[in-house]
Amino acid sequence: MSSIPGQLNPSPRLLLGPGPSDAHPRVLSAMTTPLLGHLDPQFLAIMTETQEMLREVYQTKNQLTFPVSATGTAGMETCLVNLVEPGDKVVVCTMGYFGNRMVEIAGRCGAQVTVKEAPWGQAFELDAIRETLKSVRPKLLAVVHAETSTGAGQDISQLGKLCHEFDTLLLTDCVTSLGCTPLKVDEWEVDAAFSCSQKGLSCPPGMSPVTFSPRAVDALKARKTKVQSWYFDLTTIMSYWGSSDRAYHHTAPITMVYALREGLRLVLEEGLEARHARHQRNHVALRAGLEAMGLEYTANKAVQLPQLNAVKIPAGSDDVGGRKRLLTEFGIEIGGGLGDFKGKAWRIGIMGQNSRPNCVYTVLAAMEQVLRGSGAKIAPGSGVAAAELAYAAM
Ligand SMILES: *Cc1c(COP(=O)(O)O)cnc(C)c1O
Repeated sequence: MSSIPGQLNPSPRLLLGPGPSDAHPRVLSAMTTPLLGHLDPQFLAIMTETQEMLREVYQTKNQLTFPVSATGTAGMETCLVNLVEPGDKVVVCTMGYFGNRMVEIAGRCGAQVTVKEAPWGQAFELDAIRETLKSVRPKLLAVVHAETSTGAGQDISQLGKLCHEFDTLLLTDCVTSLGCTPLKVDEWEVDAAFSCSQKGLSCPPGMSPVTFSPRAVDALKARKTKVQSWYFDLTTIMSYWGSSDRAYHHTAPITMVYALREGLRLVLEEGLEARHARHQRNHVALRAGLEAMGLEYTANKAVQLPQLNAVKIPAGSDDVGGRKRLLTEFGIEIGGGLGDFKGKAWRIGIMGQNSRPNCVYTVLAAMEQVLRGSGAKIAPGSGVAAAELAYAAM
């Protein structure tokens, strides 16, 4: 090394992609709080408070509710490695990129995986899932509640009841739904759910809140084989996060727990219903603006998520060049397409604290410059004006 790298000095960014989204200033400030030890009585109280708020946000009384010490995928892995044993039948419903990740992990757990596919941008009808449950009789059904690769949402409100008719556990990927759209774990009879800190909760990436129903805990207790992952084995993690002993399992990422605690406080101060309504309002305005500029959504309108807006890249526009211009000239990050949509879609996330009018107006104004720069015929200001009208009509 010829010289020591300079002090960190990243350019200001507005993170309007599929995640991470910007952390709330109060979250960043909580992260400068001095460290406590992971077994300090004051930290144990902070863990308990965090778990209580997490239950509230997940709308559950599940005792086993805590944040896994890693990103959303670790929550996915935790759910699958604990609930699936070699030879178990698992059905994964995929309607985009993240369903496929569950297929991959369930396969590595030794499950007999049945993949049920919907076209990208669509979601599943209950009856179609019923047919699959009837013929396969799986131990577990896994679905993505909010498919970030397409912007489509899966209605899971009746799915738990359906699964339980067949003695099947319901696992839901709520990485992009928690904190953005309604999620009622108990009422909807969800047996296991995982999320992340960096999307709807406006914290940095690094924690994955999970929750397990008593039914899921029974399945865990009935296992005949050891969980193949040591780190994610709930039977031992429970002694730290799940009991009054708080026995050492691993060193909790103290600062990230502070962050999550602040993020959850923000959600509860606002109120779940108000927060979900805010996401819906800003989505309606953003959609009006994007469509006024001739952009077309990739997902079926009936299942469109408010927090993740994926649009087709118009003919004549350059995927990478367009996003690069947004980033370097306007300081705005949006996402490109994943998997089948690579090079074909742009993904605009307005999640958590970034679901607000100034983000909507800013991204619309910048997108207009980028689109016009690539030759699109757009009347100046048409996106922003359409959003303004949409807000005025609410
Ligand atoms: C982001 C995301 C994940 C993965 O989470 P990481 O925090 O990146 O590990 C999983 N599922 C969905 C639906 C996501 O949007």
